This record gives sequence, structure tokens and C-alpha cells, in this order.
Amino acid sequence: MATYSSPRRHPQPKRKRTAKKNNKLKGNAFFLFLELIILAILGFQAFRIITKKSNVEIAAELEIPSWIDVQLIDEGNPSRSGVQLEGINDIVVHYVGNPRTNAQQNRDFYNQQDSDVCSHFVIGLEGEIIMCVPLTEKSASSNDRNRDTISIEVCHPDDTGEFTDASYQSLIKLVNWLRKSFNLSTDHVIRHYEVTGKECPMYYVRNPEKWDQFKEDLKAAEEAADDEE
Ligand SMILES: [Zn+2]
Repeated sequence: MATYSSPRRHPQPKRKRTAKKNNKLKGNAFFLFLELIILAILGFQAFRIITKKSNVEIAAELEIPSWIDVQLIDEGNPSRSGVQLEGINDIVVHYVGNPRTNAQQNRDFYNQQDSDVCSHFVIGLEGEIIMCVPLTEKSASSNDRNRDTISIEVCHPDDTGEFTDASYQSLIKLVNWLRKSFNLSTDHVIRHYEVTGKECPMYYVRNPEKWDQFKEDLKAAEEAADDEE
């Protein structure tokens, strides 16, 4: 009976060592590659942060569309501080609280010497939009958020504070233009109520579902505009 001896295995220490060394080198190369990728990503992010324009800088160069009637409050008027915004982080919606007044009357009221309130925009009963304060400056309507918000006052025909259809449509148009210009989601569209708990804009505080609907209408109008482009 033939006996088979298993083939003798010769240890090959040299080859093993080389393989080990190669693996180590491959591992090092991999980590070096990974480090380079991470460095590239960090560098790119840092570049983006350094070169990214702030919203106030964007506001300074923004062209005001022709559907906005620019009637700035006189410089030096108590309601127009002329102080630069610290940022543009939210858009605050208000109601004027004075039924049946129009945009021009409210704008002229802000421009009086004894007025210490003003908003960036007033929207009238017919949907007319007047701009009262440059987008780089603080308005005087949203308390401690005047420093980093754009404010919009909306006229209303009666004591409920509900906006007319024309005012509502203009509000959507204006807010979406601002949102697009400053890259703000609908989460950044707030009521004066969110700032101080004040019942403003009254109808949209007393009927929160109407405010939710407004946010939905903003998104729907934005999608319709995107489809058109
Ligand atoms: Zn208000």
C-alpha cells in the first residue's frame, strides 16, 4: 500500500513579509487618499463660507421689481433709524389694525414726524405694494426682531383682520420674491405673534388653520412659478 505523505510545506517567510509590507503600503495609501478627500471637502466648505454673500449684501444689490412702488420714508424721520440690518433671517407678516385704510395712508402715517413705526412694505386693499424702507435697513415694527427681519404690513377691510383676495395674492407674490432672493423656506415666514405673542396679524392668529393654509399657498405658488421657468 502506497503511502502518501502530504507535500511538505516550506515556510516562505520572505514572501509573507513582502505581502505584509505591500498590504501595509496599500493601507497607508488608502488612508492618505481618504485624508486628501476630507481635506478637499473641508477646503471647499471653508471657501464657500468665506465667499458666500450675506443676505444683507444680497439685499444691497437686489433690483426692486416694477410691481413694487418704492416710496421711502424720509431719512431722519423717527421711524426710519437708518441702522443696517444684522441679517435677514425671517419675514414677519403684520396687519395694520386700522380697517379700510389703504397702503398709501399707512405709508404716509409712517412718514409723519410723530410716528416711530414703519415696515419695509405695506400691502393695500387693492393689492398695491409700497416699499417704505430699504431692504438693508432695520424697520420698526417687529420689536427685538427688527434687527434681522423684513416686515410686511397688510391692510384689511374690516375688524376681523382678514385680508382681501387682492392683498392675499400680493402677499404671496411679495413673500415668495423675498424667499427666493434670500433663500428662505416657508419656516422663515412668521407672524408678529411668533415674536411677541401679540395678536398680529389678528385673523391669522385667531384662525391658525388659515395661517397654515397661507404657507401651503406659498409653496403651491412657488412650484407653479418653477414649472413656468
Ligand atoms: Zn404686528
